[in-house]
Amino acid sequence: MKPGLHPKYSPVNINCVGCGTKIESRSTKGRDYSIDVCSHCHPFYTGRQKFVDSAGRVERFQKKWDAKKAKDVSDAEKKATKEASAAPAVEAAAASK
Ligand SMILES: [Zn+2]
Repeated sequence: MKPGLHPKYSPVNINCVGCGTKIESRSTKGRDYSIDVCSHCHPFYTGRQKFVDSAGRVERFQKKWDAKKAKDVSDAEKKATKEASAAPAVEAAAASK
């Protein structure tokens, strides 16, 4: 190796904030650091659904989504009752002809 060219490659500890796993590795960064998700807790490896979210975006979306679903259900009910009440009127109009 050419001297003075390559960065120092030293052992570091990587701490996962999501599950608390400590991983020993080597890095040119020179100090320990933390990560949000690792292979022990990422949904891809665990197969379980888990939201990796620190800003509350997922919760906000789910709130919005639930509100939309509730609105769709109530709209469908309204439409059904409207059609049910409109049907006799149509039959009566057809009968009067
Ligand atoms: Zn982890």
